[in-house]
Amino acid sequence: MADFSDPVEYADLRAAVREITAAHGPGEYAEHARTATPQSGLWNDLGKAGFIGINVPAEYGGGGAGMSELAIVGEEAAAAGCPLLLLLVSSAIGVEVLARHGSAAQKQEWLTGLADGGIKLAFAITEPDAGSNSHRITTTAVRDGDDYLISGSKYYISGVDESAGILTVARTGVDEITGKARISLFLVPTTAPGLSWTALPVAAQIPDKQFTVFYDSVRVPATGLVGIEGEGLRPLFDGLNPERIMSAALAVGVGRHVLARAAAYAGSRSVWGTPLGTHQGVSHPLAKALIAVETAALMTAKAAWQHDCGLPAGAASNMAKYAAGEAAVAAVDAAIQTHGGNGLSVEYGLIPLWGMARLLQIAPVSREMVLNYVAQHTLGLPRSY
Ligand SMILES: Cc1cc2nc3c(=O)[nH]c(=O)nc-3n(C[C@H](O)[C@H](O)[C@H](O)COP(=O)(O)OP(=O)(O)OC[C@H]3O[C@@H](n4cnc5c(N)ncnc54)[C@H](O)[C@@H]3O)c2cc1C
Repeated sequence: MADFSDPVEYADLRAAVREITAAHGPGEYAEHARTATPQSGLWNDLGKAGFIGINVPAEYGGGGAGMSELAIVGEEAAAAGCPLLLLLVSSAIGVEVLARHGSAAQKQEWLTGLADGGIKLAFAITEPDAGSNSHRITTTAVRDGDDYLISGSKYYISGVDESAGILTVARTGVDEITGKARISLFLVPTTAPGLSWTALPVAAQIPDKQFTVFYDSVRVPATGLVGIEGEGLRPLFDGLNPERIMSAALAVGVGRHVLARAAAYAGSRSVWGTPLGTHQGVSHPLAKALIAVETAALMTAKAAWQHDCGLPAGAASNMAKYAAGEAAVAAVDAAIQTHGGNGLSVEYGLIPLWGMARLLQIAPVSREMVLNYVAQHTLGLPRSY
């Protein structure tokens, strides 16, 4: 029989993350979002408590748990008003790829720092001329003796300024049969000569900054190659499902947070002699949004469980990501409407959470590309693009 109850360890984990995050809170998040500065205090506090690296294997100083636990960390911090975007990049993609496909030396070098959140790892796949079509990336790595030389550019790369390295997706050849790019993954230290970046301002208020990154013949030792040259798709997918799961977890957390706040507001403010929430025009959008958020939470937990069990997790991860992104946007919108004019105020801090929820419909994979995935891989329909 399936058991939908939270094990006691999960309940304890949720409570511990909530307690640490409550000391920072949504007001602090909104201020960091407004000024585009990472919420480092919260990150460090969660890191010291072992939560940022909860999925890092214990032998490298991590929690030895999996995506189920990391998703709980991300969801609970977001549910306390502080969605941490770099959990998605550094802890989900970076750790999951390295733990499964990194060499012993790479694990020693990177996972020990990722375990307490002391270092962060950015992730770079998106390119201006490739966009959603990652097969068209032109950033290229060419073998040069004991090294690779990487040349090209990426954009919308989150948190480069906070990161010790960038897990970089590059082209290392062309498959002679399919004509598609052979891709490989590289660990590129942010101190590598030839690597530079410029800020790419986004109007949606988010604490972590985005960057255009330039690789000008960046020399990376061959020991920086993750996995086998030209066979980067396998490790990439072992990172992209966790990325979708964490995206879903953040969205679920944002949804829970704003709906709890909206319910409190609608229950306490009265402009017609009864609380606002008495009116179904106010309460029904909140109820509908909560149903969508909780449904998405179930799919998120299923996807994380499948990933942790080594089962195919693509369908559930994509479905969770889609459902949670839609639910979060509907939840923030309903919460803003419930707050009336205060919904747009700086004081109530809902607009930055709208920005995060809206971002999660576009990145790390757009909702349209998720629908394409489900149509093609789950429903078996012809590829449309
Ligand atoms: C704040 C932010 C942070 C980000 N962080 C990172 C990061 O850290 N690392 C990283 O590598 N990338 C990052 N990204 C990039 C993000 O992953 C891409 O923006 C996203 O994958 C969409 O790609 P695109 O912007 O090129 O859109 P495009 O590919 O140009 O697509 C534009 C629109 O067309 C739709 N579309 C495209 N192709 C199809 C199709 N075949 N069928 C139906 N619809 C289609 C898309 O869904 C989208 O709505 C970030 C983006 C943002 C905004």
